[in-house]
Amino acid sequence: MRDTHHSITVRLLYVSHAVGPQTTTMTASILLQAQQHNPPQGITGVLCQGQGFFFQVLEGERSRVNALYRRICADKRHRDVDLLHYEEITERRFGQWSMALIRLSVDDPKVKMQDPNFDPYCACGPQVMQQMLDLLAAGQAIQITAP
Ligand code: FAD
Repeated sequence: MRDTHHSITVRLLYVSHAVGPQTTTMTASILLQAQQHNPPQGITGVLCQGQGFFFQVLEGERSRVNALYRRICADKRHRDVDLLHYEEITERRFGQWSMALIRLSVDDPKVKMQDPNFDPYCACGPQVMQQMLDLLAAGQAIQITAP
């Protein structure tokens, strides 16, 4: 995905707490909304869910990413939405995906979330994003939507 020179492109990462169980029905409805809205807005990213938490990266034109983030913050399916990282970028890292999905399994040794001391709200943003890229490279994305 190419970005024009006239707009400022950003990458945003947040963490949130799911309200209720993270069922496949809920995930499917979130992905459907992402599939409908993200491509026309030029937004790409990845949603990572498991163990009651969401991590999501959004990339795209600044005002569009900010507007989507405001919508997502108001969504009743999760709470305690906390911004972990926000930066201006020249290259997208998740540009292939209008919204990839990574499901974290409880016993995946690559995933530190089963550590009782792991607090997603204290996670280092760049490290979380690198871990997402590693999981995507390892074929951990179970559903990928083409832009
Ligand atoms: P409605 O409220 O039914 O739509 C009202 C009007 O606004 C309609 O005209 C609709 O077309 C328009 N509209 C709605 N959403 C958008 C949008 N994003 N851009 C432009 N126009 C819009 N939603 C996403 O779109 N992308 C995501 O990546 C995404 N990730 C999510 C991750 C999590 C963890 C959660 C909980 C939710 C996520 N959502 C995402 C859903 C988001 O919070 C809203 O529920 C959703 O965008 C609303 O879509 P709707 O069509 O039901 O809107």
